[in-house]
Amino acid sequence: MTSLSQEAISEYIAAAGKAVWEVPQLDPNTKTRPISRVGVIGAGTMGGGISMNFATAGLPITIVEQKADALERGLATVRGHYQRSADKGRFPQEEVEARMQRFDGRLSLEDLAECDLIIEAVFENMELKKEIFSALDKIAKPGAILATNTSALNIDEIAAVTQRPQDVIGMHFFSPANVMKLLEIVRAEKTADDVVATAMELAKTINKIPALVGVCPGFVGNRILFARQGQGQKLMYKGVMPWDIDAAMNAFGFKMGNFQMSDLAGLDIGWSKGARTDNPIRDALCELDRRGQKTKAGFYDYDENRTPIPSEVTAKIIRDITGVEPSTLPEQEIIETCIFPMINEAVKILEENKAQRPSDIDIVWLNGYGWPADKGGLMYYADSIGAERILAKMEELGAEDPSYSPSELLREMASTGGKFTEIETGGLKVAVS
Ligand code: NAD
Repeated sequence: MTSLSQEAISEYIAAAGKAVWEVPQLDPNTKTRPISRVGVIGAGTMGGGISMNFATAGLPITIVEQKADALERGLATVRGHYQRSADKGRFPQEEVEARMQRFDGRLSLEDLAECDLIIEAVFENMELKKEIFSALDKIAKPGAILATNTSALNIDEIAAVTQRPQDVIGMHFFSPANVMKLLEIVRAEKTADDVVATAMELAKTINKIPALVGVCPGFVGNRILFARQGQGQKLMYKGVMPWDIDAAMNAFGFKMGNFQMSDLAGLDIGWSKGARTDNPIRDALCELDRRGQKTKAGFYDYDENRTPIPSEVTAKIIRDITGVEPSTLPEQEIIETCIFPMINEAVKILEENKAQRPSDIDIVWLNGYGWPADKGGLMYYADSIGAERILAKMEELGAEDPSYSPSELLREMASTGGKFTEIETGGLKVAVS
């Protein structure tokens, strides 16, 4: 690996941060749609945080829940966040009240009829999302932007249940949504230019960094994350313990390794009692009510300060399920096994034109997933390694599981010596209508 100059890295990140705002395929004269009232569906973890961004920016919000108690809980959580900020002296008490007054809590989707932008943040369930969008199609005023905060679902499929797919877009916020800077703006097949332009402009209004991406499972950020997490799983089946994998990720520079992150997010996402998913270790942990930090146990045990402690229970579950005795691998091997597949996936994303440019991928990972800034970004780091070495690793991992096979472009780069930060894309698809 060539050594990384911190000065060059700062320059690269600054240039990437500028480029991410640019959408060359949009006519610069595209008129944005006026947004003066925002609707949010779901007052859970994401809905509450998403709404706060708009209330903080001075926009009125109609927030819709199914039941009064969920609505009350959601609004109380929002107030709690604002109150804590006021208590720390970030703004005066009157500001808490002013922001809360911008919230109009409701229990019916019909109450969203006056909104110019509606963001859906209900459970990650395709049928439910389709039901909501089909209802919104009848309720929302003409020209309203209909956005979904889905983490990974197919937005083209959601848009197709409406008579106005040109108005549908993904606005993928990151948790906690009132804090995290990144906003993936997901352009679907039929999303209109002015909807894309409006979403990009809104990012500025609410102080986010937008990355325009295309529809694919997990979009850019989560799709790359799935590649890393998947390899973490596979390493457990080779007897490597989660804490050893996390220690390697921490040594690389991630504050949170694969399993520390899973414990924080909650292991029961996509799990229900008795479920047998493709992740039996996780299923077994959840059955024991080890659902992550929130239950004080997940892959790790947690003390009262939330310090993660390697768990004998988890180690036994892994041994019982995998039938493999615990072993270790050198730190560098764990790093390459988890990180090189992320690079391969990023190349596939660029090959498929699901991101506008390589540096956008770096902005996504720097601002949404805690990528260590002293390594520049995933693509920048990849350049310091070189395509040949990455290809060799992916040949090995692809032989074990074809979903990790090297991308065609990676092969080509390995033979021609191309740079990851210079991969050219055709841009995202321009709207049909
Ligand atoms: P959550 O369970 O905290 O909140 C979902 C809320 O939606 C609940 O309060 C529920 O009562 C409400 N709801 C369900 N059906 C409804 C309906 N028909 N009408 C009105 N409200 C309804 O879930 P969350 O973590 O906030 O996730 C919401 C969405 O955001 C999901 O699509 C998820 O994939 C996505 N997302 C989550 C995260 C995260 O880290 N939690 C990050 C990015 C995106």
